[in-house]
Amino acid sequence: MIEGKSELKRETMEFQAEVKQLLDIVINSLYTDREIFLRELVSNAADALEKIRYKSIAGEDIAGPELPLEITVEVNGGDKTLTISDTGIGMTREELVKNLGTIAHSGSKSFLRHLAETDRKDLNLIGQFGVGFYSAFMVAKKVRVLSRSYHSGEQGCEWISDGAGSYSVGPAEGLQRGTRIILELKDDAEKFASADNIKRIIKRYSNFVPFPIILGGERI
Ligand code: ADP
Ligand code: MG
Repeated sequence: MIEGKSELKRETMEFQAEVKQLLDIVINSLYTDREIFLRELVSNAADALEKIRYKSIAGEDIAGPELPLEITVEVNGGDKTLTISDTGIGMTREELVKNLGTIAHSGSKSFLRHLAETDRKDLNLIGQFGVGFYSAFMVAKKVRVLSRSYHSGEQGCEWISDGAGSYSVGPAEGLQRGTRIILELKDDAEKFASADNIKRIIKRYSNFVPFPIILGGERI
């Protein structure tokens, strides 16, 4: 089938203009409180878990019904990576493109204006503007998102970007249901590859997340 084949290709795509503008600020500014990026990624993971929980209760047919509903965080000091995984609803290729390449929220323009006007950026409110995901680029020089949707028969997909105008999407093998976000940390963000630091940040900002958060094999 033509449709099936087109899904196998890797494609490079441009971010929507408004996303480019936001990323430009996120990547090239000085910040107070960079660590809030983790709150945003954990909150997205929790939202995705909430959605799959709901579908499961509603009796929908879901891939990986046996998977525990949880968030796993891994640090790798050698590679300088931080990985946040969830067994939530996942995203199809189309959803990756739409959700991570465009801004649905109409209020984001005023947020952009506000950010453009201040020197030391405070991105604390980013989540309220529906663009929390992009805060990952405060600490990451490259973001990889591996995801597999809950629909049985959906293939896994990979989304990669360095935040500079474009991203690529392509197929990925061997994924279970849910999403894994791998942050290749900037040189000045190495401290986010430290388990102690990550544990402190999660306790500080994500203490009331209603799903288990596992770090280094242990529940935080
Ligand atoms: P918001 O969470 O306010 O919608 P974000 O910028 O944080 O805005 O995320 C954008 C969208 O990307 C989410 O609405 C969701 O559809 C999708 N998304 C992000 N992270 C995940 C995830 N871990 N699992 C599934 N979907 C996700
Ligand atoms: Mg969010």
